[in-house]
Amino acid sequence: SKDSGRNCCTLFRPEMTDFALEQLTVENNLRTAIERNELSLVFQPEIDLLTGQPTCCEALLRWHNPELGSVSPDRFIPTAERTGIILPIGEWALRTACREAQAWTGELAHSRVAVNVSEVQLRQANFCNLVRSILNETGLSPQRLELELTESLLVSREGEPRRIMDELRSIGVSFALDDFGTGYSSLGYLRHFPMDKLKIDRAFVRDLPAHREDASIVSALVNMARSLNLNVTAEGVETAEQLAVLRDLGCDQVQGYLLCRPVESHRLIECLQAERSP
Ligand code: C2E
Ligand code: CA
Ligand code: CA
Ligand code: CA
Repeated sequence: SKDSGRNCCTLFRPEMTDFALEQLTVENNLRTAIERNELSLVFQPEIDLLTGQPTCCEALLRWHNPELGSVSPDRFIPTAERTGIILPIGEWALRTACREAQAWTGELAHSRVAVNVSEVQLRQANFCNLVRSILNETGLSPQRLELELTESLLVSREGEPRRIMDELRSIGVSFALDDFGTGYSSLGYLRHFPMDKLKIDRAFVRDLPAHREDASIVSALVNMARSLNLNVTAEGVETAEQLAVLRDLGCDQVQGYLLCRPVESHRLIECLQAERSP
């Protein structure tokens, strides 16, 4: 029920399935994850195909719990969203990502940091103020913050997200549309939202170059981005062959294990240098 999210713990009921039980264990442990220092962030760069430079590094949540071990975001983010726990966790991720990015030096000194934001977070009443105060507190320039949103947000045409995006863009924050191509994106939805970048989902990259249809889809997505004057990143690039196709198709940036795995902030520079040496 909706209320259970606000109480301390949901109680075990005999009719619960294994899945429900696992969700419950995740939920109960997640509530104390921040205070017990169980969360951390790793970062994965996006590399510009013209300059070879990291333009942006995406912050990805990691959760290590003594009872559950390492839990992947795909297992806990949906629960966090359903229960509202995503609000404190998302705030923690935003603050930590900005703080870490502010300390980047060398070739990362001007890199943006990209933070994944759930729809629930964006719709919370004080989201703009929260972002502003975190930027103030950490000293990170708004031009160095990018927020990644997913397509579900675009489907409901309510005015609120648009207003929030306009306000944050007016101070220099930019927006990327994540997992592009998997949802409902069309020019129709997209033109109502002030995006700066599209991130092509790795589902379309995985089987390149063998699957010609996927190359056609990527090409269509890139053209869609171009016609809307948006920057394009391809996600999940694992092989040199995929990289070559994506370059030919006109992507601006690439991100994936081939370039750099998600790593702790202090290992980013080392990771970037390792990939470039022969
Ligand atoms: P995403 O935002 O689409 O992030 C990309 C995912 O692909 C990450 O998984 C990343 O580790 C993985 N990845 C990167 N390169 C490659 C590659 O070359 N090959 C393959 N196979 N995978 C690659 P991760 O870290 O497990 O995160 C999963 C999802 O959890 C993210 O998908 C995002 O939707 C969500 N998530 C992670 N951190 C946060 C957060 O702070 N807030 C919110 N709301 N969601 C988050
Ligand atoms: Ca993302
Ligand atoms: Ca994505
Ligand atoms: Ca995804």
